[in-house]
Amino acid sequence: MKTYDAVVAGGGVIGASIALELAETGMKVGVYDAREPGREASWASAGMISPAPENAEMIPFVPMSLASVALYPEFIRTVEELTGMDVGYRQEGALDVILDGDVEEELSTIIALQHGVGLRAEALSAEQARAMEPALSEEIEAAIFRPDEASLDNRAFMDAVLKAAQRKSVEIFAGNGAKAIWKEGGRCKGLVLENGRAEAKWTVIAAGCFSARIEGVAPYAPVFPAKGQMIALRCESMELQRILWLEHTYLVPRNDGRIIAGSTIERTGFEHEVTAGGMKKILSEAIKLAPGLEKARMEETWAGLRPDSPDHLPIIGPTDVEGLLIATGHFRSGILLAPVTARLIREWVSTNEVSVDWGRVSPMRFLEGQGRRAVSSQF
Ligand SMILES: Cc1cc2nc3c(=O)[nH]c(=O)nc-3n(C[C@H](O)[C@H](O)[C@H](O)COP(=O)(O)OP(=O)(O)OC[C@H]3O[C@@H](n4cnc5c(N)ncnc54)[C@H](O)[C@@H]3O)c2cc1C
Repeated sequence: MKTYDAVVAGGGVIGASIALELAETGMKVGVYDAREPGREASWASAGMISPAPENAEMIPFVPMSLASVALYPEFIRTVEELTGMDVGYRQEGALDVILDGDVEEELSTIIALQHGVGLRAEALSAEQARAMEPALSEEIEAAIFRPDEASLDNRAFMDAVLKAAQRKSVEIFAGNGAKAIWKEGGRCKGLVLENGRAEAKWTVIAAGCFSARIEGVAPYAPVFPAKGQMIALRCESMELQRILWLEHTYLVPRNDGRIIAGSTIERTGFEHEVTAGGMKKILSEAIKLAPGLEKARMEETWAGLRPDSPDHLPIIGPTDVEGLLIATGHFRSGILLAPVTARLIREWVSTNEVSVDWGRVSPMRFLEGQGRRAVSSQF
């Protein structure tokens, strides 16, 4: 049996970022993944680092997103320095395109939402938008420029975070997932694995949408999958600098010339199928945005499973089982929130003082009304 200061179930972007952050404090850390680490949602993602709230309900959550955006440059520097790898970080901003409807009202609603949370946003005429991105359709009515948006190549980033963690002596195991939390008395002693046990003072559950399948975890993290389909396009006759959005469809340019188009949100369980309907929806919207894409080559299609939660908010923090922490449910924002999630877990296990307001994301919210509280008096 292996013994650690901290053991993490799940080697996606969340588990790997936490492992790296904890290892940087000198802790001995083990990561156990059921399959190959980093090949689930974190691999399938579009890689956008987008702090903008999608709707008014998400406004209270923006400070946590902004805290993560602020941590990103240093997090990337650490990862790139430890590994010598380039994660394809781009800070070019995004254009939110309006094709029809009440243009004035839509512009003022979106801009008020952005400015209300301290994000920059600028209304553009169709001509101004097309001057910035000549690939945009001539049919567009207007656009909003959001300069604070960034992106990275999430597959390169995922590989780099795992490698950086290993450089900091984190032990990473593939094909040996967690079956259950190992509980004795009121305390979590580690993980019961498919093969053996791992003992640790701190146990962190970061197994994405699979977390609730680990025995003992579901009351704190009742997560489930939300499938998203994606397409990688390549089009030599067309260039994009910025992320483009048309309602729920987006185009994300990569440094290697690929354009990632997504996505769908489907509640179809734990399956990864790419469907004709999913491709039709994404491609028809993508071509409406940038008609030149009609000539694009389809290089790759795939689907991934976002870890969704009942209120669509992440689940991060301590539980009422001593030593057990949860870090999952990041739904559409796990890439965005990886640095702040790792920082929060590090603060809980090392200083017991937390720098970000996290009340809304506590795992204990699902047990409200039962009079149960997280273990530390502070939380
Ligand atoms: C199509 C799509 C587009 C997206 N676009 C964006 C975006 O642009 N920006 C953004 O911020 N977010 C985006 N997301 C969301 C983001 O990708 C996820 O929130 C994030 O990757 C979740 O990371 P994770 O580490 O929690 O989960 P995962 O990456 O799913 O990792 C979970 C890991 O746990 C392992 N595991 C499973 N069961 C067990 C077990 N029993 N024990 C141990 N390990 C186990 C899995 O093998 C896997 O390696 C997107 C997601 C999808 C699917």
